[in-house]
Amino acid sequence: MSNPDVLPHAWSRTLWRDLVDGDFLDGLRDAVAQDVLPFADEIDRQDIYPVESIKRLARKGYTALTLAEKWGGQDASFLRCAAVFEEASYASAAVGISLITILQAQTLIKLFGTASLQEKVLPQFGEGLITSYALTEANHGSDIRSLDTKALKTPTGWRLNGRKSFITSGSAAEAYIVLAETSAGVSTFFVRHDMPGISNETGPNASTFGLRNGPHVDLILDDVELPDDHLIGIEGKGVRNAVTTLDFSRTVAGAISIGIARAAFDRALAFASNRLAFDKHVIDFQGIQWYFADMMAEIDAARLLVYEACGALDRHEEIARYSSEAKLLASRVATRTAEQAIQICGAYGVTESAPFGRYLRDAKAYEIAGGSSEILKNTIGRHLSKFGESLRIAQK
Ligand SMILES: Cc1cc2nc3c(=O)[nH]c(=O)nc-3n(C[C@H](O)[C@H](O)[C@H](O)COP(=O)(O)OP(=O)(O)OC[C@H]3O[C@@H](n4cnc5c(N)ncnc54)[C@H](O)[C@@H]3O)c2cc1C
Repeated sequence: MSNPDVLPHAWSRTLWRDLVDGDFLDGLRDAVAQDVLPFADEIDRQDIYPVESIKRLARKGYTALTLAEKWGGQDASFLRCAAVFEEASYASAAVGISLITILQAQTLIKLFGTASLQEKVLPQFGEGLITSYALTEANHGSDIRSLDTKALKTPTGWRLNGRKSFITSGSAAEAYIVLAETSAGVSTFFVRHDMPGISNETGPNASTFGLRNGPHVDLILDDVELPDDHLIGIEGKGVRNAVTTLDFSRTVAGAISIGIARAAFDRALAFASNRLAFDKHVIDFQGIQWYFADMMAEIDAARLLVYEACGALDRHEEIARYSSEAKLLASRVATRTAEQAIQICGAYGVTESAPFGRYLRDAKAYEIAGGSSEILKNTIGRHLSKFGESLRIAQK
């Protein structure tokens, strides 16, 4: 087997159609090779937040790409943004998911934040601000229509009390997006880590077997006082805000899964091209080629779907269906690709020193995190119901 620390991008470039311009991809792949790849294995094994990787990517402009130039961003398209998630995750999906919790916070503030909050916070993303998205609670996972975390109106702003669970990037977050219930319903708030009343706890369920970017901490809010402008968007519209933000993050989550799938594919191809059995290279057995043919077609299909969703985001179109389809298919393809890549590599595939176990664990975790496959299918199903309704009206 060739050196497993050298990612064979040459194959990716030959086998897949790059949908983003070559100069941008070249710079991005150099950055990933320097700032992500050397740490990928250690991040996973030790379950640590990749602070250094994220700060370096931020200095190169990759964490604030879609923000306006006035906020330190590049006004870049979501096609480019997805390329960043795919390439970073080709080396480390833990870095990919670290970038997602940053994108979620900046998207919410960009779309719904008050002008004063935008002025204070948005420029900090270009400087490497690390954020988390705190939605889940012990009793509320998929169903967030009501929450146990409460926000009470005060003369100067809001007082928050409650506990959030499963907070990705929470071990290093400098600020959080917190969903809490007010008298008007679920609402969205911006909370800084250094505010009085904020603390983290690392509980028994903090370590996941996949997407390990540090423990998924519990965030404890104990009489946390917020100024008025830290309410993001309209009070009571938190679920709507969350759903809109998830359209963005589910699209790039699809790109993370494709990064994982491509890495598994490329490494399996490198192995099969060199390994001999029965006087043949393993890649020359038809049974093995069929694995690769299925994987390649599925990765290409998922990638086109992710880029279709990105195009819809760039055109400001309704994309709940596309983003759900993109994440649903890409996460499933990543799990299947990782599993088949292991099979192709035989005993080497299941060794601790090979990266395939990490690919499989990361891929599977993303069939749940950020919206489980069942919830994504419900979203697609709702679109079909609406379509059925309009069909019935048209037939009357
Ligand atoms: C690696 C990882 C990272 C995460 N990071 C974060 C984070 O940063 N912030 C955060 O807030 N949360 C985070 N989560 C939590 C995640 O969002 C929830 O796990 C997810 O929303 C599912 O909720 P649950 O686990 O409570 O499952 P439940 O809601 O209890 O669901 C259990 C099962 O029932 C299914 N189900 C539920 N409702 C329906 C339905 N209506 N129709 C069909 N099936 C249904 C689910 O798909 C699942 O299979 C993370 C989770 C993981 C695994």
